[in-house]
Amino acid sequence: MTDGQTVTRRAMLQSGAALAAASLLPARFRAEVAPRPAGMPSGRFAPHVAVIGAGVFGGWTALSLLRKGARVTLVDAWGAGNSRSSSGDETRVIRAMYNGDPLYTDMVSRAFVLWREAEAGWGRPVFRKTGAIYLFEGDDAFARQSLPLMRERGIAVETLTPAEAATRFPQIRFDGVRVVYLEPEAGYLLARESCELVRQAVEREGGTYTQARARPGPIESGRLTNVRLEGGDAIAADAFVFACGPWLGRVFPDVVAADGIVATRQDVLYIGPPAGDTRFDEGSCPVWINFGIRRLYGIPGNERRGFKIADDTSGLPINPDSLDRVVTPQAIRRARALLARRFPALASQPIVETRVCQYEYSPDGDYLLDRHPGAGNTWLVGGGSGHGFKMGPALGEYVARLVLEGAAPDPKFSYARFIEGRARVRRTRQRKEHP
Ligand SMILES: Cc1cc2nc3c(=O)[nH]c(=O)nc-3n(C[C@H](O)[C@H](O)[C@H](O)COP(=O)(O)OP(=O)(O)OC[C@H]3O[C@@H](n4cnc5c(N)ncnc54)[C@H](O)[C@@H]3O)c2cc1C
Repeated sequence: MTDGQTVTRRAMLQSGAALAAASLLPARFRAEVAPRPAGMPSGRFAPHVAVIGAGVFGGWTALSLLRKGARVTLVDAWGAGNSRSSSGDETRVIRAMYNGDPLYTDMVSRAFVLWREAEAGWGRPVFRKTGAIYLFEGDDAFARQSLPLMRERGIAVETLTPAEAATRFPQIRFDGVRVVYLEPEAGYLLARESCELVRQAVEREGGTYTQARARPGPIESGRLTNVRLEGGDAIAADAFVFACGPWLGRVFPDVVAADGIVATRQDVLYIGPPAGDTRFDEGSCPVWINFGIRRLYGIPGNERRGFKIADDTSGLPINPDSLDRVVTPQAIRRARALLARRFPALASQPIVETRVCQYEYSPDGDYLLDRHPGAGNTWLVGGGSGHGFKMGPALGEYVARLVLEGAAPDPKFSYARFIEGRARVRRTRQRKEHP
């Protein structure tokens, strides 16, 4: 018997590899996909999966598992979309331009469909179509590499000169911009609210939700036996999914943190427009991303919450438990400098809200969706790296398939890539910008 925190890497890799082909379903069910595979063991015979973390990754994974026939217990320390969580902000961008990456482009396409279906079911619109504009002050390779793939998949995108863009969006100044792309179907999602709607759906569809902090129990014969809840209870299950966002490295320090997924501080400001001025509301203003020396982006004021602006550059590592969520003067200076250049009407407007969030940055900016290397019944789901929210429902579906059908993840999301790339990561400690 070994404890989840002290197991050696060699032991982990050996036992994990031995269990890698294991599925929770009998072999004859594995090829079948949602909804609820025919013949899937049901009721008390259905596999029981405990999902730790009710952020966008864990919540959607729990819901997808339920819909594929599993019994699900969802656990969160502070609740779905809480203020400390990465999913806990008001809004998140959803857009399909992904630096020419087919896997992410396809995942976003699927996510668009699933978000639409979900909001229709909930009777609450959480996706707001504003369009997204990409402003390139220099090289626009990010867009050029994406265009063929987007067009091939029928995702609309227009190329605009700065003059054309200024006519379309007179509230934005395009000085120093070389080229602009408009993705008209893009927009933003109501973030913390949709996490709670997903959590409620989990309960409505037969899952159980518990609010408590959980930690992994012992690993025996390459399987995690249970999770222990603060307060004493333990949850035993056939499988465990840890979707702990910025805490994932703290829950598994010898695996996740050691392999370079870190929580980095990200400051977000909300600017109050002048009274009566609706040019920066969701009805008039698109989501925007400014590719300059740094990458800043913003979201029009949702439901009168103010015009959001943030810097996408990854900040310093933080402790998500104890960090005081107060933005830095430097973040305010950077935001104001960009407002003065691009949104002059907002340059001297007051900051009406602030938020300090965190990315869970993986060394290559890609997600981690794979088994724990030492526990074949345990999946690590994280590394959102500042671009995971939009994918929530598609990612949940993907992970549910891994868990219930024993499928292997795409190499991009695998744990093995950290092992292969560890020496390089250790040497450079450099993180790629997320796609
Ligand atoms: C400032 C900012 C801007 C972003 N912008 C975008 C964007 O525009 N578009 C986009 O797609 N993505 C964006 N992202 C990224 C996106 O928000 C994240 O990738 C996503 O929210 C990650 O979700 P998660 O479920 O992995 O983590 P979280 O939302 O942090 O959820 C983890 C949950 O686990 C719980 N938990 C942790 N440890 C335990 C434990 N031991 N026991 C029980 N519960 C536990 C926590 O309470 C939390 O609720 C942004 C992120 C930030 C910070």
